[in-house]
Amino acid sequence: MAVICELCNTQGGRVLWKDNLCRVVLVDDDGYPGYCRVIWNDHIKEMTELAAEGRRHFMDVVFAVEVCVRDVLAPEKINLASLGNVTPHLHWHVIPRFRSDPHFPNTIWGIKQRDEQCNITGPLVEQLCNRVAGLVLTAQR
Ligand SMILES: [Zn+2]
Repeated sequence: MAVICELCNTQGGRVLWKDNLCRVVLVDDDGYPGYCRVIWNDHIKEMTELAAEGRRHFMDVVFAVEVCVRDVLAPEKINLASLGNVTPHLHWHVIPRFRSDPHFPNTIWGIKQRDEQCNITGPLVEQLCNRVAGLVLTAQR
């Protein structure tokens, strides 16, 4: 049976960082500059299908990306989400949220509240990309 999966067939965005287990991509979404996804490389559906070491590694990467986003963009809040109902291939959303973003305080999948954009500029997003690209995991064990 052929697997038709967007995250198996494409990188899922601009790859900022990767290792042999997972990758970090920048999501192309005008309303949410700096929105990143951490994607497990293999087609696995649930976190509990990973061995403990894999889970730990995956979450270490998610939290490291969260720190980069907080340091560079200083959002009001970070939203971490793992849904996968549409694409059942393990991935975590790391979404910087601002009071002025299109959906705040709803989730980004909720009812839109306004047309405004947050004022995160392209150069700032590039700064975030560079920061993630240089990501070194310090909490391996
Ligand atoms: Zn897949």
